[in-house]
Amino acid sequence: MSKEVSSAEVVAFPEGVRAGPRQPPRVLAIANQKGGVGKTTTAINLGTALAAIGERVLIVDCDPQGNASTGLGIDRRNRRYSVADVLFGEALLRDAVLPTAVPQLDIAPSTIDLSGFEHEVGQARDRALRLRSALTPLNDGKPGNTDYGYVLVDCPPSLNLLTVNAMAAANAVLVPLQCEFFALEGLSQLIKTVEQVKNALNPQLTIHGVVLTMYDSRNNLSGQVVADVRQFLGKKVYDTIIPRNVRISEAPSYGKPVLVYDLKCVGSEAYLRLATEIIQREKELRDVS
Ligand code: ADP
Ligand code: MG
Repeated sequence: MSKEVSSAEVVAFPEGVRAGPRQPPRVLAIANQKGGVGKTTTAINLGTALAAIGERVLIVDCDPQGNASTGLGIDRRNRRYSVADVLFGEALLRDAVLPTAVPQLDIAPSTIDLSGFEHEVGQARDRALRLRSALTPLNDGKPGNTDYGYVLVDCPPSLNLLTVNAMAAANAVLVPLQCEFFALEGLSQLIKTVEQVKNALNPQLTIHGVVLTMYDSRNNLSGQVVADVRQFLGKKVYDTIIPRNVRISEAPSYGKPVLVYDLKCVGSEAYLRLATEIIQREKELRDVS
């Protein structure tokens, strides 16, 4: 598949791909203990959008329900090794990683076995650091290893040990918030967990941003929720708002990201804007540090 490239091509990095010395990937934990707020949808479609604009992306499915894996069309029978095997110490991450139909987008799939995580490793001293250790070999430059620009960790709908592992392994947390009446409820608990992980395990951890999802322009409440959330969280809220869009909800049943299912729909456009905004925010973070 790979053709020979000249040195001139090697130095001409496409937009978004980082040149320079080898660096670890940016790891974003997509977390909110509420179910159904758009975590998995954001992992799949932000991952696809980042890949479409030139980044190499790995999605790590840390939810035993495995919706990110299914939504990307990964057949259960092909999940030879899963994130559960990796976190239980029975396989390396690279053994679990599978390509998706989207160029530049890979996934480490999950299976229901992951629901036994707390039971299996809950007493181990390194129980909160299993995912961080599994990600450490990424981008080490060894032959056969892929260099990723971004790792997106899709968290389960709970502040459990899996979510703590994701936060301990991450540079930052990305919080999807559904535009509904109780949007902010539970957020203080989430912020408290981020603070605890930061203090105990991962001093660099920050909240990258909050993405408002399932915005319905015909519903006055959605507008009110946006205003409230922006007032409460200020610049932490991304400018991009993900609209409620039927194409987004249809896509997973075809095992496709919405960007592949219908590139021109408003949902795809929104996730592309979000990806651009995240890369921009990353640049600003790097420039100040
Ligand atoms: P979570 O991972 O937080 O539990 P999901 O991403 O699985 O949430 O989303 C919950 C449900 O809402 C899914 O059926 C998904 O297809 C649907 N959904 C998510 N985002 C949107 C959206 N912007 N428009 C329409 N449906 C959406
Ligand atoms: Mg989910």
